[in-house]
Amino acid sequence: MTFSGTTLSPDQPGYDEARRLFNGMIDRRPSRILRCGSTADVAAAVADCRALGEPFSVLGAGHGVTGSALIDGAVCIDLRGLDRVEVDPAAAAARVGGGATWGLVDAATQELGLAVTGGRVPSTGVGGLALGSGSGWLERKLGFTCDNLLSAEVVTASGDIVTASESENADLFWAIRGGGGNFGIVTEFVLKLHPIGPVVLGGMLLYPGFMAADVTRNWRDFILTAPDEAGGGVALITAPPEDFVPEPARGQPCVGVIVVYAGDPEKGREVMAPVIEFGPPAVDLVQPMPYVAVQRLLEPPNPPGMRNYWSGDFLAELPDEAVDAWVGSAFPPASPMTQMILVAGGGAVARVEEGATAFGNRDAPFNLHHLSMWPPDPSLDQANIEKTRSVAAAMKPWTTGSVYLNFIGDEGLHRVASAFAPDTYARLRAIKKQWDPDNVFRFNQNIPPAD
Ligand SMILES: Cc1cc2nc3c(=O)[nH]c(=O)nc-3n(C[C@H](O)[C@H](O)[C@H](O)COP(=O)(O)OP(=O)(O)OC[C@H]3O[C@@H](n4cnc5c(N)ncnc54)[C@H](O)[C@@H]3O)c2cc1C
Repeated sequence: MTFSGTTLSPDQPGYDEARRLFNGMIDRRPSRILRCGSTADVAAAVADCRALGEPFSVLGAGHGVTGSALIDGAVCIDLRGLDRVEVDPAAAAARVGGGATWGLVDAATQELGLAVTGGRVPSTGVGGLALGSGSGWLERKLGFTCDNLLSAEVVTASGDIVTASESENADLFWAIRGGGGNFGIVTEFVLKLHPIGPVVLGGMLLYPGFMAADVTRNWRDFILTAPDEAGGGVALITAPPEDFVPEPARGQPCVGVIVVYAGDPEKGREVMAPVIEFGPPAVDLVQPMPYVAVQRLLEPPNPPGMRNYWSGDFLAELPDEAVDAWVGSAFPPASPMTQMILVAGGGAVARVEEGATAFGNRDAPFNLHHLSMWPPDPSLDQANIEKTRSVAAAMKPWTTGSVYLNFIGDEGLHRVASAFAPDTYARLRAIKKQWDPDNVFRFNQNIPPAD
């Protein structure tokens, strides 16, 4: 196979734009960027790098906060040209290119009133998100993205093209449902689709910061016994300087409740009344709205290039004192762009048998995402990083000890290992040894091959 994509070297126009990632803290210069347009290009790129002994990274849509998509001096295999989304309504399935974004998937599937659990921001890549399992607003109803993966086309470490499914290369199929980009480059995902919307009940309620603990407790009590259709979360944020926010609240710490009901909107109002009717919010944006609009509720309004530092943890429980610790440590935020997000487990996620996919943590009732974001000024780094760490430290007593890898930065091999049950991790390492014994796919949340 020969590479027939485009090669960008550091001295060529477009190189700097092509190496820009979501996280503005990452400023890395790959030796060259191989812009692939087909599976054959990806296979040729891998084979060429192997033959030349050159290390390479894999770029999906560049949303990974660690910046593993780009490495100084290494080749970057850029998948953004593989962004086709083909929906087969009869089969209720979508073929999705390995470099597509969730915005493309949602647009194509929602035209037919179909959807699959996907990223909460349209510009996020399907690749990195789905391989890390894929958490989204529909997860309590439909499971994670990886729970809806029917098959995948994978370019292996040796540059071969294989299919992974329940019936073909089943071990590989198991591993890529939560094990990240460790086992090969996925050039196509085939995802199961479900009827959703296209209009659902969605939106956000904003309350002043002093109500944050009460609002969180109320949401917790509701979501723990809520039906699968009820989703959403709680976010400790700063009220944006928008017209729809009352003057005195603008720029102030506030708590946002994201409401999503993946069913009939009227029924949703009834079911979610305990959340929607909890005290008078400063802003009430909850209404029947297209699911694609729900998918934009957390979209950062800022241009790309903001600096990011993230961490997260699964929680074993969320008693009142944990809520107080969360709110007390998060407020006041170090940056008005920061979003401390709490989402709930349960529903379809929890009904998948533990061990059925590489992703575990099926019984964790809550997932905390400490998402710090600030303007492109390095002098602000320390305060924001310290703030993130102090929130994580404050919540430690209630964590399971496990972590959702899509939500964290580079926190070391032990944190990657902690994302999996010990026997799952051992199995992942054995499968890694089989498919990538030289660990050529190592610029990721890495799972080293078994010794
Ligand atoms: C604004 C924002 C919102 C987010 N929201 C969510 C959310 O709702 N739910 C959630 O679960 N996560 C979320 N994330 C985290 C997201 O899942 C990860 O950042 C993920 O890595 C993004 O995928 P990407 O392809 O854009 O990443 P990239 O930075 O391009 O890639 C990161 C790594 O993923 C691997 N990779 C990517 N594509 C492939 C592929 N096709 N084959 C093999 N390996 C590949 C590679 O190892 C690569 O180094 C969000 C991130 C951002 C920035």
